[in-house]
Amino acid sequence: MITLWIDNKQYKAAEGQSILQVALDNGIDIPHLCYHEKLSSYGGCRLCQVEVTKDNRTILTTSCTYPVIDGIIVQTETPRVIKARRFIMELLLSLAPQAPKIKALAKEMGAIGTRFTPNTGDNCIKCGLCVRACEELVGAHAITFTHRGAQRIVEPPFEEAKNCIGCGTCVQICPTGCINIEDRGMERKIDKWKKTLKMKACKRCGRPFISFAEITFIMNKAKNPPSENWFEYCSDCR
Ligand code: SF4
Ligand code: SF4
Repeated sequence: MITLWIDNKQYKAAEGQSILQVALDNGIDIPHLCYHEKLSSYGGCRLCQVEVTKDNRTILTTSCTYPVIDGIIVQTETPRVIKARRFIMELLLSLAPQAPKIKALAKEMGAIGTRFTPNTGDNCIKCGLCVRACEELVGAHAITFTHRGAQRIVEPPFEEAKNCIGCGTCVQICPTGCINIEDRGMERKIDKWKKTLKMKACKRCGRPFISFAEITFIMNKAKNPPSENWFEYCSDCR
């Protein structure tokens, strides 16, 4: 067990946990956008800044990527931390000026406007949640980061997301709602990944409910694959 201090209170933590995990487990609110408990930490949004003091040296750092160490002192609400978070929030606001979640968080943190030129693009804040979810939760590896610096974007590695099975996990996890999924007739379209998938209809209600690509993916990946009949009916009719 590791002992650390957060906001002048002592806490116990398990080795390998991050400061953010320990804080959240103990009801301490540190704002974050790119952290998800089921995914590896990435430190992409930079919002979860805290001050950490170790061996009489204090640094400003992202709490999701800082593993707990015995005896460290963490401060989550100092003027320096709040100033840094507001600055980052302004940057995020410029990247996704139309995203309701970003606007609400910015308001909550006192970042009313942004001194940066608002992006007229796609509202993506490059948090990488979609990439990590597709890799680590789904296992499809359909999308990735490409280019560097300000040009960095998420896109399929090839012309279209060849491995995309249309499961919608990336759509659900995206904090800015910038991945659009649309079912039209017997097709599912995810424009951001330049992907169109053929859908299977439920034998009872006729509603298209899963892509053929997802059925194949599940059958190939599952240790104990369900019978083919499993995919005849949607979850409501099954
Ligand atoms: S919809 Fe496609 S890109 Fe998104 S998580 Fe599923 S497989 Fe990956
Ligand atoms: S598309 Fe959404 S989830 Fe993916 S990096 Fe951009 S903001 Fe994050």
